[in-house]
Amino acid sequence: MKKLFTLIITTILIVFQACQPPVEKGVVENEEQLRKAIEIATPGDEIVMKNGIWKDIEILFQAKGEKENPIKLKAEEAGKVFIEGSSNLRIAGEFLEVSGLVFRNGFTPTSEVISFKKDKNNLANHCRVTNCAIQYFTNPERFESDYWVGMYGKNNRFDHNALIGKGNQGVTMAVRLNTEESRENNHRIDHNYFGPRASLGSNGGETLRIGTSHYSLTFSNTVVENNYFDRCSGELEIISNKSCGNTFKGNVFYECKGTLTMRHGNETLVENNYFLGNNIANTGGIRVINESQTVINNYGYGLKGYRFRGALVVMNGVPNSPINRYNQVIDSKIEGNILIDCDHIQLCAGSDEERSAIPQNTTFNKNIFLTTTNPKPFTVYDDISGISFNNNLINAEAEAPIKIGFSSVPYEVAETSNGLKIPGQSLLEKIAIKEPQLPVSKDEVGPDYLNKDIDVKRLSSGKEVKVLPGENTLIDAYLKSSPGDVLVLSDGEEYLLTKDLKISQPVTLRGTGAGKPVVKSQKSAFFKIENGGSLALENLIIDGAESPDQPGNSVVSTSKYSMNKNYNLFVKNCVVKDLDVNHTFDFLKIAKHTFADTILIENTQMTNVTGSVISLDKEVEDLGIYNGEYILIHQSTFRDVQGAVANIYRGGTDESTFGPIVRFLENEFSNVGKGKRNKIQASVSFHGVQNALVENCKWTNSAPINLHLTNGEPITIIKDCEMDNSGGIVANRNEFKTENIKISQ
Ligand code: CA
Repeated sequence: MKKLFTLIITTILIVFQACQPPVEKGVVENEEQLRKAIEIATPGDEIVMKNGIWKDIEILFQAKGEKENPIKLKAEEAGKVFIEGSSNLRIAGEFLEVSGLVFRNGFTPTSEVISFKKDKNNLANHCRVTNCAIQYFTNPERFESDYWVGMYGKNNRFDHNALIGKGNQGVTMAVRLNTEESRENNHRIDHNYFGPRASLGSNGGETLRIGTSHYSLTFSNTVVENNYFDRCSGELEIISNKSCGNTFKGNVFYECKGTLTMRHGNETLVENNYFLGNNIANTGGIRVINESQTVINNYGYGLKGYRFRGALVVMNGVPNSPINRYNQVIDSKIEGNILIDCDHIQLCAGSDEERSAIPQNTTFNKNIFLTTTNPKPFTVYDDISGISFNNNLINAEAEAPIKIGFSSVPYEVAETSNGLKIPGQSLLEKIAIKEPQLPVSKDEVGPDYLNKDIDVKRLSSGKEVKVLPGENTLIDAYLKSSPGDVLVLSDGEEYLLTKDLKISQPVTLRGTGAGKPVVKSQKSAFFKIENGGSLALENLIIDGAESPDQPGNSVVSTSKYSMNKNYNLFVKNCVVKDLDVNHTFDFLKIAKHTFADTILIENTQMTNVTGSVISLDKEVEDLGIYNGEYILIHQSTFRDVQGAVANIYRGGTDESTFGPIVRFLENEFSNVGKGKRNKIQASVSFHGVQNALVENCKWTNSAPINLHLTNGEPITIIKDCEMDNSGGIVANRNEFKTENIKISQ
């Protein structure tokens, strides 16, 4: 009996074990199976992760494969294994390959999403990550810093991946050289799709960085080839090269607001890269710093950036430069580059008392410059005698930096079948340069399963939806709307909000006809823009009459919390009135660590406001962080506003951002900024604004304009303005331009 019992048990056990999914090879279904499979993996094994969502998983892929028999960790089907929540991946060992994984809906609990190391003693060598994607896997805290990919060790490859939509601080991808084992690494980064990265409004928005200033004289020997950088506009440096011996070849930079910057390190090869600016502001090309740099056969079209983000920038250095400053350009070669309709080529850029070491022993030959958009594309900031110019071509309408070494040619531009603008054949033949051709297309990069047509939903891009007047009808309509929809309000009717209208996608509220609809609210804010939201108000009357009798109301507020997506706010043809039930009733109230791409107020009248209109002043630590890129106010009138119409603050001395950029055109300010709670005692205050134009504006009985100019050679122009009994312009320095200003008491 006992024997029989034992036999049954044994049989049950065997059957039970046979039912267990095999873990040695084949598909693993959960974290425990995955861990075991990795633990026992031997060369040639494939560990397959089952399709579906893997949540809150920190994968350590540590194993030892062989050159001919790597160990593979792959998705059951590429693009169908989703890593979500608080998750990451570390790779350590040799000859390992990861493919097909998608990181989304979450962020890493550590400082990296994919790391080519377990810890500082266990690195990855001869490993590969391919056909993977990281999409919006971004920390909700905007200034909580992390990397999406950290490369360590040697001889690793990162290819055919996609990195899309990083919104928090920190380089998207970094190659680190901090230990001997990660130097002279021969990594290969190729055929990746680097998707859109919005302006961070701070340093730390680079897409790729190789090295750091500390190890900048160390050789990395990383090759970056045939990648596609699509609207990578996080900050001034798209790529920050900070080590020696790297190659950037055959990459495409599509409408990126920044440059490939040779920030530190020598012997860099920058060859056959294509910068397609398409006439978009702040798009840039190549910035040359340091020694023995080779910049050949690159192409730029419609690059509009200036100063450090020009189409081609050769910097001045610091004599005996500390390792973290600027080394002099020496023994460098700039040859065979083609720039068409690019506005700014800067030589000896950054020249100042500190950066006084001019470029030396550098050649500038056989380059072609064709432009009709800026007749004086070159700016020479210092002595260019250390650069020899030979056989360069420039069209007759444009001015060369010096006479010798440039031939004047006609502006001959042809277009290839795929729309690339190229110099006429005769010009190419004249200096024996081959015809430009895009080195890689968007179809040839990134994971095979991924649609790379990233559709950014814009304001007013959706359908029109009629909204009946009444209580909270706007909220009901918003909740049913799709991103980009336009909610159309009825002529002259009233819309009351008794609850918060929280906006987390782009939406437009539009009145039509002459009798504007009226919007009132009983809450502290009419509209709350949350992460992902953008708002347009068009042809409306915004009336504060129903707002609660308490201080600190606003018409529009941002989320109270950090936002890792930028927002837009457009106000057109509106009347904003009686924001005066109590004190400090602002038009826009923002929170720290939020960022507006564009705030536009156009053809709008605002009267009786006890607070301010736009205060972008929450980043007070002077770290170069700020709250908005473009602030545009056109043809608008502000009357009886106790606070400032605009208080824009960017503190610190960081040079890695473009903004804030301000345009105030044809506005009137009457009795603005004189309230006793207006601590800045100005109607308009620009602190550290990088580019400001105030034109055709009139002040009456108002507080002055305050200018606080900081570093970065800010451009500030105030022209054709009248200031009547308004205190004029109060500035800390006088490096701003005024023209035709009438000041009367
Ligand atoms: Ca930077």
